[in-house]
Amino acid sequence: MLAVNKERVNNLLQGLAEFGKTEQGITRLAYSDDDRAAQEWLLAQIADLNLQVREDAVGNVFLRRVGEDESLPAVATGSHLDTVIHGGMYDGMCGVVGAIEALYMLRDVKLKRSVEVIIFRAEESSRFGFATIGSKLMTGNGSPVGFSKAAKKGELSFTEALANWGCDPERYAEAIVKPGTYKSFSEIHIEQGKVLEETGKQLGIVHNIAAPTRFKIHIKGMADHSGATPMGFRRDALVSGAKLILAVEAAATKEKDNGTVGTVGVVEVEPGSINVVPGGVTLWVDVRGVNNESIARTLEAIKAEAERVAASDGVAVELEMFTADKPVALSEELAHKLEGICEAEGIDYLHMNSGAGHDAMHMAKLAPTTMLFIPCKEGISHNPAEYAKLEDICRAIEVLAKLLEQEGNE
Ligand SMILES: [Zn+2]
Repeated sequence: MLAVNKERVNNLLQGLAEFGKTEQGITRLAYSDDDRAAQEWLLAQIADLNLQVREDAVGNVFLRRVGEDESLPAVATGSHLDTVIHGGMYDGMCGVVGAIEALYMLRDVKLKRSVEVIIFRAEESSRFGFATIGSKLMTGNGSPVGFSKAAKKGELSFTEALANWGCDPERYAEAIVKPGTYKSFSEIHIEQGKVLEETGKQLGIVHNIAAPTRFKIHIKGMADHSGATPMGFRRDALVSGAKLILAVEAAATKEKDNGTVGTVGVVEVEPGSINVVPGGVTLWVDVRGVNNESIARTLEAIKAEAERVAASDGVAVELEMFTADKPVALSEELAHKLEGICEAEGIDYLHMNSGAGHDAMHMAKLAPTTMLFIPCKEGISHNPAEYAKLEDICRAIEVLAKLLEQEGNE
């Protein structure tokens, strides 16, 4: 196997960062002209790899190195090129560039199976309000019409953007990939958290991807004059809401050893006036974790507390659920292989979970899937200050290349 070429990795990352560059970071939204230009530039840089290039019915791109036995399921790897508004140059790009560099490293290695680098479209939710659209459509999850529902006024809907890209939105189902097409899928990604940096580890092996349960708590009390209504005669919805914010924190804290987290990120107060006792409050709650039972216990505890507060405070409390995704368990077998590679190479790794969503969580429905996390500075991502060290990126690429070699000959 050839050595990782740090200069090429750096040049590809720096080159991609030019597309959608603004004074406040990179804004390269999915299906935009910048998204296409970045991809075309990248493909031109790697023409010497002689990969077969194919685009599916929704714009995902597949770069295939043909193996000795084309009848075998291919080994897949990849990530995304789109960014958030004012994003950084590593989220997604490390996985695409890393996969390509791994193919350069494997140039002189015979592989039984084909290897495919997948560039997923629209991983970020910044443009259409939905995340991981490309991989969702590959796995038969959702439709262009469904992904058009959150379209902002005056901007293209997902269906329109897809048609602009050159795809026929009605033919989206042709992008669905059958299970059995791939032997495995692996994705390099920056951690987007501080765990690796704070523990001083060089690489993360990901076992589970957390999924959010999101709901609103509506509290109905009574709006009254804040001067004329004595204490004891009030039904203050915000006071009840404050108790429930603490209840969310307490319920999630009780489950912290299971990795569950709970956040109230939005508080809406009605009427929201200095001289009126709040009559109505809505709390937006996000509970996440990797352990289904732990998430269920957290939700039960919040519900029980909501009922208790409703009874004791004389307010009406109602929960409105709007997302309840299931956490995704990645392949233990692939994690074990990564562990073996790290040990052989003397790499200081950490077993961990991902708090953020990734294309890998959908690919896990198609094939055994794994993720390799790279430490990132202060855990910052979705921000121009996003940074990962070249040596950390290249270390992950070396591990990926070894995994692809094993998988490709199995
Ligand atoms: Zn990403």
